[in-house]
Amino acid sequence: MGPAYTERGMAMSGGKMTGNARAMKMRKAEDAIDQIFRELGAAEEKHPGWPTDVVHATAIMVEEAGEAMQAALDAYYKRGDLEHLRQELAQTGAMCIRALVNL
Ligand SMILES: [Mg+2]
Repeated sequence: MGPAYTERGMAMSGGKMTGNARAMKMRKAEDAIDQIFRELGAAEEKHPGWPTDVVHATAIMVEEAGEAMQAALDAYYKRGDLEHLRQELAQTGAMCIRALVNL
């Protein structure tokens, strides 16, 4: 008997992900991390300065999260572009990293 599939399409076997599903998930995670690092490099080049206080640093990350929320709303309610959402999420991740390394 082959693996069962969850509603999200993840292959499961006995409650555990199959090796193939795990490999696919890891590949997608690596792609996401690569995209976050590309966004981080682009942001550091475009805006080399970074706030010295945590409030303004965190505000930059939250601004990107707000843009991701808008892109999600557009994708969901207005048949918007998932690639735009992907980009805004990666920018949010990049700003999380930037805030963390500058703490
Ligand atoms: Mg953005």
